[in-house]
Amino acid sequence: MTEAPGNSFEQRLAKERVSLQRDTTNTLQINTGLLCDLRCRHCHLSAGPGRKEVMSLKTMEQVIAYAKRNRFATIDITGGAPELIPHIEQLIASLAPLTQRLMLRTNLTALSQPGKDQLLNLFVAHRVVLIASFPSTNEGQLSAQRGGGVMEPSLKMLKRFNELGYGIEGSGLELDLVANPSGAFMPTGQEAAERKFKKDLARKWDLHFNNLFIFANMPLGRFADWLESSGNLDAYVEKLQAGFNASTLDGLMCRSLVSVAWDGSLYDCDFNQAANILLGGKPTHISELDGRPERGTAIAVGEHCFACTAGSGFT
Ligand code: SF4
Repeated sequence: MTEAPGNSFEQRLAKERVSLQRDTTNTLQINTGLLCDLRCRHCHLSAGPGRKEVMSLKTMEQVIAYAKRNRFATIDITGGAPELIPHIEQLIASLAPLTQRLMLRTNLTALSQPGKDQLLNLFVAHRVVLIASFPSTNEGQLSAQRGGGVMEPSLKMLKRFNELGYGIEGSGLELDLVANPSGAFMPTGQEAAERKFKKDLARKWDLHFNNLFIFANMPLGRFADWLESSGNLDAYVEKLQAGFNASTLDGLMCRSLVSVAWDGSLYDCDFNQAANILLGGKPTHISELDGRPERGTAIAVGEHCFACTAGSGFT
């Protein structure tokens, strides 16, 4: 879905007499593809088993060449499940020396598959920051979002991370968790939720992590389909619009990030990938871009941007 100019988010920015422009682009986000072992209800990219859209070795090499040309402070590898993408080890090993902070998003279960020890060792060797999706400490809520049988391998992998030093004070290995509401409602306060997660995980399973981030679900992809089929779409979108908070604009990730899709095409963020809203409104391949997107250029937005600016925001 390509948003026409004048969508309601643009109109809201105009009404508030504010605009959304790039600051310095210091983060390169790499979406390695839509292949995943899970089919989560909240997935804005509708990733899942059998998806064929995965980054080729050639595109990886073009991404690495771009990262060499530009030296981003942070590189953020996401998916789908990046752990399942062929040549992911090569991508990690090549990018690690090029940045101060290499992050990888994991759904936990993909890493629990056999044959992933080499990848785990690579994370430790390069001090990769792991961002693990773990929507809830409640098994019923977790299963509702991610499918049955997900809790046990997720806990097993968190345990393994802790054994490797991830999430353990003084180890220098950072493990953060990401949670999101299980239905058509807004997230609770982050600090209180982090305290509760830390307490629950330590008490029930002796598990530890560094930070918890809680995000609103994007009305895109599979989550939009679920909202529609459950009759919640209009009410959810209205809730996001009503929660618009202009003070979130300065901290939005799209101001400092460029996002490259599995096929090398560029976007202002991963959500715009799902909405097919291209960087600068025109197709650009990573091999064609020399520098970073320029400071002061307008960010392409759509209706889904209300999910980033509702309440305390999505940064
Ligand atoms: S979805 Fe969020 S991060 Fe992406 S362009 Fe819109 S406001 Fe920015």
